[in-house]
Amino acid sequence: MNNILVVGSVAYDTIETPVQKKEFILGGSANYFSLSSSLLVPVRVVGVVGDDYKSSDLEMLKERNIDLAGLQSVPGKTFHWVGKYEDAMNEAITLETHLNVFEQFNPQLPEQYTSSDIVFLANIDPELQLKVLEQVESPKLIGADTMNFWIQSKKDKLLDMIAKIDILTINETEARMLTGEFNINLAIQKMAQMGPKYVIVKRGEYGFIAYDKASDEMFVMPAFPVQTIVDPTGAGDTFAGGLFSYLSCLNEWTFNDIKRACIHGSVVASYTVEGMGVEKVKDIQLSDIQSRTTDYLKIIQVGNHAKAIEEVTSKSAHS
Ligand code: AMP
Repeated sequence: MNNILVVGSVAYDTIETPVQKKEFILGGSANYFSLSSSLLVPVRVVGVVGDDYKSSDLEMLKERNIDLAGLQSVPGKTFHWVGKYEDAMNEAITLETHLNVFEQFNPQLPEQYTSSDIVFLANIDPELQLKVLEQVESPKLIGADTMNFWIQSKKDKLLDMIAKIDILTINETEARMLTGEFNINLAIQKMAQMGPKYVIVKRGEYGFIAYDKASDEMFVMPAFPVQTIVDPTGAGDTFAGGLFSYLSCLNEWTFNDIKRACIHGSVVASYTVEGMGVEKVKDIQLSDIQSRTTDYLKIIQVGNHAKAIEEVTSKSAHS
């Protein structure tokens, strides 16, 4: 099994949704990613926290098999994001971003992390993503994510980073913002031209599109139809955690593996949105994933469609 290293934000979030409001709850792209991927594999985290980071949060993460040797603790305040969601909760509205200790962060990988097999550059300053990537000797697979904040403030560095990766995960609005292309199919083509072999576009309640540059093929799935969405924060990062942890269990990767890994990621993400912050995702078990995956696959099963369409057309007035 391949090991995974993730760098990303480690945060306290203040979140308001139509259902609930919570202040200073555990969040951050690296935390969501690692809680999700640790269901399948141990994961190494690179990031920084301030002296306000609670020891109970550290304990909870360690109990979930998350290696925190690469998490620096420095004087100051932990990254703080304030956001809200309206109506169908498809889009996060950022109200405040306080980088705090991330502003001065200079990632230094512990020696044992430099031989990591899989690297995921979760949403954070692309300069930090690049600094981490430079320190990993020969990763077999590199993935990354980003968001509007970095597309607007550090586009050049972001493009340098995207040129070096194998798989880009990005949400639909940000894909349009990054490429300047409203048509999502064209946006995907443009992102693939920036470097990655695979582009995965996350579409909230509408699921995801996975694209394979080599075969020019697409795969599209709706999201698992969750009945009660409480807070979508972290859905994208837990999707990525599921995707990359699934891939870490394999030694080579075909587009079919990517599709299956995305299905796994989608199922993990469907639990994340059912609770505030990490409340749900921190407690899920693999057995939960297995049973929901069975239900999820039912929504795209149509039996032998080729045979069915043949029967229907043979009965039609034109045949
Ligand atoms: P998502 O999976 O896209 O919902 O990501 C949610 C997490 O992103 C939240 O827990 C935030 O702490 C984190 N976040 C918000 N803005 C930023 C940013 N500019 N850079 C890095 N992480 C961020």
